[in-house]
Amino acid sequence: MSSKWFAAAIVGGAFLGWLLAINFAHVAWLNALTQVLQTTFLAALKMIVAPLIFFSLLSGVMQLRQAGSLGRLGGGTLLYYLSTSAIAILLGLGIVFFIHPWTDYPPLQALPTGNITFIDSSEAGFAATVSKLLLALFANPFAALAELNILGILTSALLFGLAAAIVLPQDSKFPDVISDITQIVYRVAGWVITTLPLGLLAIAFQLTGKIDITTVISLAHFALVVVGATLFHGLVILPLIVWLIGGMNPWHFLSQAFQAMVTALITSSSAASLPISIQTAQEKLHVSRPKAAFVLPLGATINMDGTALFEGIAVIFLAHMFGVPLDTFSIVIVFLVTMLAAAGAPGIPSGSMAGLQTVLLAVGIPLEAIALVLLIERPLDTIRTAINVEGDLVGAVVVEKWT
Ligand code: ASP
Repeated sequence: MSSKWFAAAIVGGAFLGWLLAINFAHVAWLNALTQVLQTTFLAALKMIVAPLIFFSLLSGVMQLRQAGSLGRLGGGTLLYYLSTSAIAILLGLGIVFFIHPWTDYPPLQALPTGNITFIDSSEAGFAATVSKLLLALFANPFAALAELNILGILTSALLFGLAAAIVLPQDSKFPDVISDITQIVYRVAGWVITTLPLGLLAIAFQLTGKIDITTVISLAHFALVVVGATLFHGLVILPLIVWLIGGMNPWHFLSQAFQAMVTALITSSSAASLPISIQTAQEKLHVSRPKAAFVLPLGATINMDGTALFEGIAVIFLAHMFGVPLDTFSIVIVFLVTMLAAAGAPGIPSGSMAGLQTVLLAVGIPLEAIALVLLIERPLDTIRTAINVEGDLVGAVVVEKWT
């Protein structure tokens, strides 16, 4: 199914679930069926989180090694991607620090809350908190994978990736093997995401009637904050970067990048927009062919400003909705894990949903919380994907100028 039709199917699924709930909420078998569908869908999402994070990070570290061997081009591209992702998350977290209209309403009680908490600094002193954190970070890798200890998975992937990069000879086949496994995991994640229209139908059915008007208003507020912050990043921060660092008139840039951004908006997929991004970079933004061919595919895989910004705000929102307190320490964890989760998200519609679960788990928010965000996530994905692609194109212009 093309990305366009898939995006339409997701909206259709949610709408149908809502319509069914309004008219047939009392039908017992329908209730039971949607309950089973919802549980299956959320379990499948959860199933893929650990391998997705582990392998995408491991192969990311391998790519860093390859990029490192490309010298200035690789190093410059990575520096740009890391910096703009960090700016995007800081922007999201900064905005949500001041603007969080949903806190006017009490937290939601409708969904079950989980009890996975790796960091809870409120109940213990500093030393106890740090030991807890260290225990989570340096857990047995197999136990970390099995128990969905996100911090442990991240540490293992980083350490093993780093060691492999140091130990293996340049012509080793290992990075290719890891990259192949990552492709397989991405494919399975893609299959799970393909069932999203059905999952959303069930979630919409189950949630309609259980969530009250204040939750709907909170969701609308959340959507507005995300859209405002994303547009600010896309229309102010990235144009400033293209102007000040890339040396290109921002109006000129936006007018030339428009077609690629609209493609991303319609398809909700950085990967599907890649051919048009490469063409735009070469023909309209005058980026040389080898640079466009290196910077843009890498960007479509690891550079997701809109996704990073969205995930940061979503976690703060869901923490409130599910009554999970976040202290400064947890916010730092949100920042770091979001950087990795956004880099690991596949460039497909709703690709960041598995990564978002990673950030939720890292700060002890129940995985089921994601159901709430899924209800509003479709229109938000269109805008953040457009900004993801814009970020890649700005990267191509910057790298062209400086390497
Ligand atoms: N749809 C996004 C992209 O392809 C990924 C996501 O944030 O879900 O860039």
